Formats: sequence, C-alpha cells, structure tokens
Amino acid sequence: MKKIAVFIGVVLLAIAGIVLFKTFSNTPGAHQKSSELTPLNKEAIAHMTEAIQIKTETPNDAYEFDTATFFAYRKFLEKSYPLVHKNLPRTVVDSFNYIYEWKGTDTSILPMVLMAHYDVVPVEGSAVKLWHAAPYGGEVKEGYIWGRGVIDDKSSMIEILEAAEAQLAKGFQPKQTILLCFGADEESSGKGATAVVKYFKSKHQRFDIVVDEGGEISTEDMKEVKRPIASIGVGEKGYVTLILTAQIAGGHSSIPAKSTAIDILSKGLYQLRQNQMPARLTPPIRAYLERISSYTESFGKKMALSNLWLFEKQVMNNLSESPSSNALVRTTIVPTIFNSGVRDNVIPTYATAYVNSRILPGETQKDVYNFVEKTINDTNIKITYYHNYSTMPSPTTDINSKAFKRVENAINAIVDDVIVAPMVMVGASDSRNYREVSDGVINFTPITNGKGYHGIDERMLVTDFQKGINFFSLLIQGSK
Ligand SMILES: [Zn+2]
Repeated sequence: MKKIAVFIGVVLLAIAGIVLFKTFSNTPGAHQKSSELTPLNKEAIAHMTEAIQIKTETPNDAYEFDTATFFAYRKFLEKSYPLVHKNLPRTVVDSFNYIYEWKGTDTSILPMVLMAHYDVVPVEGSAVKLWHAAPYGGEVKEGYIWGRGVIDDKSSMIEILEAAEAQLAKGFQPKQTILLCFGADEESSGKGATAVVKYFKSKHQRFDIVVDEGGEISTEDMKEVKRPIASIGVGEKGYVTLILTAQIAGGHSSIPAKSTAIDILSKGLYQLRQNQMPARLTPPIRAYLERISSYTESFGKKMALSNLWLFEKQVMNNLSESPSSNALVRTTIVPTIFNSGVRDNVIPTYATAYVNSRILPGETQKDVYNFVEKTINDTNIKITYYHNYSTMPSPTTDINSKAFKRVENAINAIVDDVIVAPMVMVGASDSRNYREVSDGVINFTPITNGKGYHGIDERMLVTDFQKGINFFSLLIQGSK
C-alpha cells in the first residue's frame, strides 16, 4: 500500500515538474521593431475619401443594382491609377469584377493574387443619425478615416492600388506574375468571385498565394496578452441551414390539446440550445493558442496554454464561455427564423423553424443533421435541408507554407512586437472560391481593432491606412 502511495506521489511530482518546466521555459520572443514605413501621401487619402463617396451599395434585390454608380467607380479607378491602367491589362468578368494582370518575368512561378471587394452593405436609413460622420462623406478626423466600406473592404483595394501605382512609378518589374482581383458583389451573392474563379479554372490557372480580407490585428481580444495579435485566416467554417417542422392537428384555441405544434417545436429548439456539438481544437486554433501562450501574463492561463497535453479540457471550457471563442472551437447551431400561427384564436397545425449552423473544419452537414436529429429526439419534428445556400468547411492553409510565411513577414515589418497567429474564419469571403485554385489562400486585412463592420461609425486609423499600403507594397516587392 505504502509503495503505491509513494509511486503515485512520484508520478504527481513528475507531472508537476513537467508542467512547471514547460510553463517557465515558454518565454516570450524578444521585442521586435517594424521596418521604417513609407510616408502616406495626400493623394492616397484623397483616393480613399473618393472611394467611400461613391456609394457602391450592394442591393438585396439584383434588379436594384445601380449600374451608373459602379461605372462611376470604374472611372474613378481609371483616373486615380493611370499607371496601373496603362501597364496592367484588365479583364472584366460579369460586368464589374476586375482582374488586372501584372506580368512577371518568370512565368514558371505560379502567380500571386491580391484581392478585395468594393461593394458595401447599405447604411440603414434609421441609423444614419447615430453615425458620428456622414456614412458616405469619407471624412478624415480624430485620426480616423470614416465611412461605409472603409474597412470592409475598400481600404484593402485602395491600398493594393496605391502600392501597385507607386511600384510602377519606380519601374518595378515583378518576377512572379501578380493579379489584382476586385469583386463587386461579395456582400450579396458572391457570384462575381465564383465567375472569376471559373474563368481561371477554364485556363487551368493555379496560384501560389491568394491574399483576401479576413483576420486583423487586435490589441483588445486577449486582455492578458499585452502585444498586438495579428490573426491570419487560414480556413473558413462551413454553412448549412436546416428546416424543422412540427405538424400536429390544431384547432380552436378555446379547447387546447395537451401538445401543439408550437409546443413541440419550442421543446425541440430548447433541447438544441441546451446541448452544443462537442468542442474540438482544430490545428489552426491549437497553433494560435501555442503562439500566444508565452505572452500570456496570467500565470494560470500561461500554464494551461503551455501544457495543452494536460489542460486541453479546461482550456476548451474557458474558450466555450465567450460567443466569439466558442465559435472557434465548435460547430455552432442557432435558430434564426420561427414561423407559426395565423390568428390569435386558432391553434396552428404547423410550426417551422430555420436553424443555421456554421461547421468547423473536420465536420460535415450530415454531422450537423445527425446531431440535431439525435438531440431533438422527436419523430413529430421533420428535419430537412434548406437548399438555398450551403458550403462545406474549407480546407486549411498550412501555417508552414510559403504563403503564410510571406504574409507573416510582411506583418512583422509593419507592426512592432506583433504576434502572428493562424485563425479559422467564422464567416465567408470571396476567397472561399479560390481554394479550388490555390493551396495558399490567406485571409488578412491590415487594420487594428476595426470598428463598425456592417454597423454604425465604420472607420479605420489613418496610420493603419499607411501600414496597409506598406503591407501590400512588401507583398508586391516579395514577388521579385
Ligand atoms: Zn468584406
């Protein structure tokens, strides 16, 4: 007995020793200084302002598409970037999606794609008065550039073009071909990007690296980490919606039966909200935690993150607490539409709910279906797929790939002491299609703590605009 106790004691001590060793030896990297940034010129700001002023709203109904505005934006591009338009042949796909080709001297290297979209979500009429600047004014004040679309995603487009124009003015010639691809309907159908990728596929064209909007730099997400974290999207979650229908004879509301369609469906949805699909650390999120672990100032958290082999369950529980980190470690399921009833004195025969799911890489639509069926466990509820839109989770880009390293280096050059870490995107972007033609799709927008995505007071720091131009310049120069 005593021997067993001694043995257990030794094992516990050994584990404690390993845990402490891993915690204390996980030391932060040295402070890192970014490179000197090229100053921002006045024309660049003026171009950004003008881009915001052209109201390229994406309508819900395709019939409301404002062709004249999109033509005006084209004119603005041609006028503002003469060297780009003189030297890089432009292909127009599906009316307003553009591909500019900057031919490299070595065509044996697969090209690089720098992409962005210039359509914007509409500004809600009733919310205009809540803005602290005119949504389409393109104002520059308090160190920010304000306006709808500035961070989603016109700044990336303008930064890419500013960088290209400046490099062309210097006579820069890339070795690797660079394609600049700009989309006009990312916020609605995304059909433009699909058509562009179809065009590339018809030419059997593949790409070495594709950089599109996505992760950003944050100094706010992780309170215990005092350095900025640049999250690079390396994959996207999948998407599926299920329709749940409960059917049971209704009738007069004066003599209600024990159970109604509304009761049955409500109970099913309640079960679904009480039970989540299991949490799992995908390789990018594991790598993210490992990369930030040494910089975590809370000793407990640092110990847990430095010893995921032992504390994975605790870390997962912790991540499950906030909606944003919960979405990174599991397939989420949430009801988004609930319909039933026609009159206040009639018990309805049907109740219908739409349940939207965002699928973690490694799981499928069928897994979601099976989970919903098992959790609801009620044959009175019929489950069907909503066929409007559905995608599988994307494959993920390797963080040891050349594409990831190239973007990582460019970020290191524009931000002091930055921790670059991979991330899985919970929403979809145009680049999703490009995964069919590239293993190097990277989602990153060079902005810090972006504010007002699809909401009020959309704005970005002027200094971020400068960093963005430098970021894309570095990517362009790296193609030499
Ligand atoms: Zn966007």
